[in-house]
Amino acid sequence: MKDQYWKRKSLAEMNTAEWEALCDGCALCCMHKLEDEDTGQVFYTDVACKLLNLETCRCGDYANRARAVASCLVLSVNRPEEFSWLPSSCAYRRLANEQELPAWHPLITGRPESVHEAGVSMLGKAVSEDDTDDFTVLRELSDSA
Ligand code: SF4
Ligand code: SF4
Repeated sequence: MKDQYWKRKSLAEMNTAEWEALCDGCALCCMHKLEDEDTGQVFYTDVACKLLNLETCRCGDYANRARAVASCLVLSVNRPEEFSWLPSSCAYRRLANEQELPAWHPLITGRPESVHEAGVSMLGKAVSEDDTDDFTVLRELSDSA
């Protein structure tokens, strides 16, 4: 992309299209998470929200997600405290922390598949909450790169 707007605009200055384009489509934020009560550590599981399309890694009802799933993390620049629930690879969290976008980010590569090719998305790794009573702990939230 010629205009690297994320380098000259703050999150608060971005328009809706620019804000939405920051999402790389990894779907990590759509996984159920576990919090260790003693340490406060948060871990990802491989269990996905029922609305996640496992074949595309995209939300099945993005426009209505907040109404459809009460626990859905609807990101806003006005609630930066919620960015701590995002993986360290996530563009919203990275830009809020004044970090660069990763080299595989679709805005850098110009290709939406690059997030999957880099192996950082949940494509092919998740099960729907509708189809399982079991789960696998993947990794600690802060370890996701
Ligand atoms: S973790 Fe960030 S980049 Fe990945 S799907 Fe969620 S909002 Fe998008
Ligand atoms: S409602 Fe959509 S965006 Fe929200 S957690 Fe579920 S799949 Fe992800």
